[in-house]
Amino acid sequence: RITIDNVRKEYDSDAGTIRAVDDVSLNVRDGEFLTIVGPSGSGKSTLLRMIAGLEDITGGEIRIDDTVVNDIAPQNRGVAMVFQNYALYPHMSVRQNMSYGLKLTTDLGDDEIRRRVEDTAEMMGIGDLLDKKPNNLSGGQQQRVATGRAIVRQPDVFLFDEPLSNLDAKLRLHMRTELQRIQEELETTAVYVTHDQTEAMTMSDRIVILNDGTIQQVGTPAEVYADPVNKFVADFIGSPS
Ligand code: ATP
Ligand code: MG
Repeated sequence: RITIDNVRKEYDSDAGTIRAVDDVSLNVRDGEFLTIVGPSGSGKSTLLRMIAGLEDITGGEIRIDDTVVNDIAPQNRGVAMVFQNYALYPHMSVRQNMSYGLKLTTDLGDDEIRRRVEDTAEMMGIGDLLDKKPNNLSGGQQQRVATGRAIVRQPDVFLFDEPLSNLDAKLRLHMRTELQRIQEELETTAVYVTHDQTEAMTMSDRIVILNDGTIQQVGTPAEVYADPVNKFVADFIGSPS
């Protein structure tokens, strides 16, 4: 369970202060697949990065279960994140990329780590790429490695930042189903960011619509579709008017 309580993020720039996330409050339930949707620049990645611990919080509080995590290091939060730009280690092979987090945060033995990495790679369809370097892979392959690297850690919470945006339509559909299956199987809580409303509507238990750093609406896909609270939500979701 994640509790986001009046969380704010401000960036200072030459043009003044930008409020990227503006007093957002939100609960993510255990085992839930929650999707954050919104246009480019609405604060989706910033919010996710604050949950992951990769961005300082300007105001408010984030709790995972009952622990305030504002000052807890990313690797100690029980979360694994898939980044919008993959953020693979270029000097490491796929196998090393996937093993690294396990070595760092668990006391699993080498054999167990190898077995888990190979099983996950097989599941992600990258079993034959384990000895390659990220630079020698296509965008879609890199994206699956980045996803595999998060899954192999079996975290309590998955944080996904547009993990399918770089895949072709067929693979994207396949991976949607695959990610849902994995999340259900591991009983993981997932916070999923996308600007693709179809993806949000088909994958999620609930969706959050973000615009300009503020939450417009939270609800099940059916609720939001049938009963949008304002024109922005209606237009964004494509509700009939
Ligand atoms: P996209 O769909 O394009 O990925 P997003 O919803 O993820 O967009 P964010 O990346 O969270 O949006 O950005 C929210 C706002 O904060 C934008 O106005 C962006 O320009 C600004 N911003 C993000 N990161 C920084 C930063 N490191 N420094 C200054 N401003 C930033
Ligand atoms: Mg983003």
